[in-house]
Amino acid sequence: MSTFQDLGLNDDLLQAITDLGFTKPSDVQQKAIPTLLAEERDLVALAQTGTGKTAAFGFPMLEKIDINSRTTQGLILSPTRELCLQITAELKLYGKYCKGLNVAAIYGGASITEQAKQVKKGAQIIVATPGRMKDMISRKLVDISKIQYSVLDEADEMLNMGFYEDITSILSHTPDDKSTWLFSATMPREVASIAKKFMYDPIEITVGNKNESTKNVSHEYYLVNARDRYLALKRLADANPDIFSVIFCRTKRDTQKVAEKLVEDGYSAGALHGDLSQNQRDLVMKAFRNKQIQMLVATDVAARGIDVDDITHVINYQLPDEIETYTHRSGRTGRAGKTGVSMVIVSKSEVRKIKSIERIIKKQFEKKNIPSGMEICKVQLMSLANKVHNTEANHEIDSYLPSINELFNNTDKDELIKKFFSVEFTRFFNYYQKSKDLNVSDSGGDGRDYSKSSNDTRYFINVGRKDGYDWMSLKDFLKEVLELGRDDVFKVDVKDSFSFFNTEKENEQKVLDFFTDFKYNGRFVNVEISENKGRSGGKRRDRDRGRRRNHDKPKGERRSRRSKDTGERTTNKRRRSSVSNRPRRSRRK
Ligand code: AMP
Repeated sequence: MSTFQDLGLNDDLLQAITDLGFTKPSDVQQKAIPTLLAEERDLVALAQTGTGKTAAFGFPMLEKIDINSRTTQGLILSPTRELCLQITAELKLYGKYCKGLNVAAIYGGASITEQAKQVKKGAQIIVATPGRMKDMISRKLVDISKIQYSVLDEADEMLNMGFYEDITSILSHTPDDKSTWLFSATMPREVASIAKKFMYDPIEITVGNKNESTKNVSHEYYLVNARDRYLALKRLADANPDIFSVIFCRTKRDTQKVAEKLVEDGYSAGALHGDLSQNQRDLVMKAFRNKQIQMLVATDVAARGIDVDDITHVINYQLPDEIETYTHRSGRTGRAGKTGVSMVIVSKSEVRKIKSIERIIKKQFEKKNIPSGMEICKVQLMSLANKVHNTEANHEIDSYLPSINELFNNTDKDELIKKFFSVEFTRFFNYYQKSKDLNVSDSGGDGRDYSKSSNDTRYFINVGRKDGYDWMSLKDFLKEVLELGRDDVFKVDVKDSFSFFNTEKENEQKVLDFFTDFKYNGRFVNVEISENKGRSGGKRRDRDRGRRRNHDKPKGERRSRRSKDTGERTTNKRRRSSVSNRPRRSRRK
């Protein structure tokens, strides 16, 4: 096993390494540092966050640049502001004994003038996010025409975020003979093509298996109906009273919505996504680090660069589109020698993805049941009992004891304990005593029993295939105009000139109000409640002539009727509400 001394680093860097308490180089450092020190070569390294990759490119760059010069010689591109700041801070620590070293961080959401000043001071190294970097180049606030080393950090993530054009444009301002070092957790085609385009004969190093998950993380999945996702999330949180977690959603909107719901329901939660201002994101992260927030609901992009070590659980509220992203997510827990759990809430239509993830991470998932309400009550009760047991008595209470004793003079110990714990327990008990089983069996069907569900509403809508819709585009359209989440519109069944769909009952009024006065191409888009829950699904043939005729009638003449197509009964329950006076919206597809 080599030491940092063996790697050939200078005394200033070795002193900083000692100060930092690094005793031995990590795998990626052992592989990258000696090669980068010895040769002027391009490098492609497959390594995840947490492997020590910043030092793997940072030490050689610090060793090789000319500190006495004020020319910018090294450029590091990273996907997010958080990561950019993190890399800058690390480099400053590594180079703390390199007198005259200037490292400038360049990222969006902060003063460009201030950043230009930092560069002008003679920054030998610039750490930047691509968007702001491009901006500064176009304003001639930076000169990267003489750089010798460029690093593309988290290249897969930069490309995921759509920075390909920006990176290409930035690199076109750099000399051809520079060395490029690319670090990526995964190697999708796009990253391989960037390597091919910008690099010459790179050395390739891989740390561990490129997508293998950490040993310290166990993986669990919970199969529920898509519409029960949120209830399932709450139960998982309640069943783990000391949870300190990141909850991943797929979109910014879902992220915001889930966080808001959690806060409304009394959890200490916060949202982290790209629609928040930098200031808001900083506040959320600060609260999370200080553990004022127990549940951080985040998008994949925003969660990059979160450098918090003691996360107990990662919860995949929805699975990511790219299966490989799961590795990034689960890697947020089980850090710094601690164990962690990565949970996936999955609906029947997605459960096959679990198998694909298992292949990638080379680990088995355990299928677990969402705890029942009574199991949660027990966990909460015992957690409270343990907390009370471990609490040191506060003797400030001593002087009040006589009065309290007097109050409980006739209460025996068991009764007193019951009363004491009821203060907290009853809240959970009342909430959960009539709660349903959220688990879905994984055999056959689509996992939903519409015939039994009384909690959702089925609607008729007078648009269909003839209007250019299929079930996916109609679902998207409804979600968008009604401002509902991706699981909130379901069982979409498109016929030739009309369709059916379901929402939770709680959204019924919203749906009916919205379509009270909604016109498209001079024609009212009509939505009515259907009495059938949609058990018959979309397999019947289209026989909608009668309905078509009916809808040609003026609005007032429409009556409750039975669809010839599906036998679903509809009632004209549209309500004219206060909303009906709002301007008519044009339909977007
Ligand atoms: P990174 O993968 O660059 O994000 O590094 C993850 C963390 O590991 C950072 O906090 C580094 O300071 C730390 N680190 C880097 N190299 C070593 C090392 N050889 N020994 C111990 N910790 C390290």
